[in-house]
Amino acid sequence: MSNFSLNKSEMKPKYDVIVLGAGIAGLICGTFIAKQGKKVLIIEQHSIPGGYCTSFKRKGFIFDSAVHHIGGCGKWSVVGRCLKELDININFQQLDPMDSIHFPSFSIDIPAEIDDYVDLLKERFPSEKEQLALFFKEFTRLYRATFSTEKHKMLLKYQDLTFKEMLDNFFTDEQLKMTLSAQWGYIGSPPHEVSAIGMCQMLVNYLKDGAYFPVGGTQNFADAITQKFIDYGGQIMLSSSVDGMLTDGNIIKGVTTKKGEEIQAEIFVSNIDPKQTFFSLLDKNIVDDSYIRKIENMKESVSFFLLYLGLDNKIDLKGLKRGFYHTSNDLTFSDNDWFYISVPTEVDPSLAPDNKQIISVVVSSRENYDDIDDWVAYKDKMKKHTINYLENFVPEIQDHIEVIDAATPKTLYRYTLNSKGAAYGWAVTVDQTWSNRLSHTTPFKNLFLTGHWTNPGPGICAVVSSGWRVANMILNN
Ligand SMILES: Cc1cc2nc3c(=O)[nH]c(=O)nc-3n(C[C@H](O)[C@H](O)[C@H](O)COP(=O)(O)OP(=O)(O)OC[C@H]3O[C@@H](n4cnc5c(N)ncnc54)[C@H](O)[C@@H]3O)c2cc1C
Repeated sequence: MSNFSLNKSEMKPKYDVIVLGAGIAGLICGTFIAKQGKKVLIIEQHSIPGGYCTSFKRKGFIFDSAVHHIGGCGKWSVVGRCLKELDININFQQLDPMDSIHFPSFSIDIPAEIDDYVDLLKERFPSEKEQLALFFKEFTRLYRATFSTEKHKMLLKYQDLTFKEMLDNFFTDEQLKMTLSAQWGYIGSPPHEVSAIGMCQMLVNYLKDGAYFPVGGTQNFADAITQKFIDYGGQIMLSSSVDGMLTDGNIIKGVTTKKGEEIQAEIFVSNIDPKQTFFSLLDKNIVDDSYIRKIENMKESVSFFLLYLGLDNKIDLKGLKRGFYHTSNDLTFSDNDWFYISVPTEVDPSLAPDNKQIISVVVSSRENYDDIDDWVAYKDKMKKHTINYLENFVPEIQDHIEVIDAATPKTLYRYTLNSKGAAYGWAVTVDQTWSNRLSHTTPFKNLFLTGHWTNPGPGICAVVSSGWRVANMILNN
């Protein structure tokens, strides 16, 4: 792993821009600005850059901490275009099939090409054939509209609708609706809560622009951006936590760090949880009242339990498909636990030594973060629960485990400081999406927000777009 962190003697007396947090949004934003010759400093509390897009190594196995794949990395899609603009080369492997979905009563493999998926659905649900054509046409138009910064009529049409309401307007077949909703775990709220726009952004992005895995692990994605940021003259301070912001009226003058540094800049970009930015780094009493109330009333997205298994080279995992495994056929998904299971070594064998294999599982967690007192007991319980579930597909799994590790919502919090280990920033509900999410500008003239707590929303593709937008706002000012 490269050592990116700056030598303290190289620190400048004042920067053009300071970015708080080296999540993917902060890295992309900083790199675009550094490319224009501005003096940019990124400050990150963790010892490695990437936020949720990081990897860790145990006994030769490389595990991705959170992110499993990235949407829109083709040449003409958002991430692809962004990397091209920044002259960053990353070796991606496109996932084909894109995913698979499993319910107790049926399963479907989702092809990598959207047209093939629509054809498959038409075959499977012939009575909805015409409606399927209309739905995907509308869904794709809505997706395109999400790239406009204006109040596009498609956005206005769907702004107040949940994904369930959108589906109900098109279809009567309940199994088809379940199929189209089955990947809601990627955005964190079930179909009757998730915003139609948010679900559209996530789903069409994967279906139309593909799902990709950065060869060598997701850390390679974050590292490649960080390296380019440094090549453009940017500086990054790792293992440095920002613990305060210095203000003069509605202008931010500088930041302080836990190590006691005081660093000044003209402009600040926060890639971190707004609750931390406005309630902890700033004195809440000096921030506009209505803005504070808005943040206080917003709800975090779900968090997850994650299990990472390093397995020997004798286990046969061929039958274990990557995708969502739902535990009931309940259409409302209210009784549905789900597991997202993947075998990353099938996509990239270099992640494990000697032809060994990795299983990675993301598990929906029903428990309220604040109600969990004993995180060790919670971790233990969830480990057993997840291995028991895996035994349905790989009965002898226990005999093949060489490395076992796990992360709880508390772990996700510890490594990113996202409140309650929120996987996706604010929940992507109707009242917290698009114009209802926090905008990039803030009550402070020279403070901008980027990342999954702001627009366009969560997921790597969306935060790349967010970082890019904020860089343009700053550079075009
Ligand atoms: C389990 C899980 C699986 C996921 N899977 C996928 C997936 O497969 N594909 C996908 O596209 N998305 C996935 N997501 C969502 C995606 O990871 C996030 O939406 C995205 O990474 C958020 O990026 P960000 O730049 O907004 O911020 P973050 O990744 O949250 O980064 C914020 C950074 O700020 C730093 N920071 C915080 N406070 C301070 C401070 N005071 N001082 C200095 N630094 C600070 C943190 O350490 C962190 O590095 C997943 C999320 C989770 C949790």
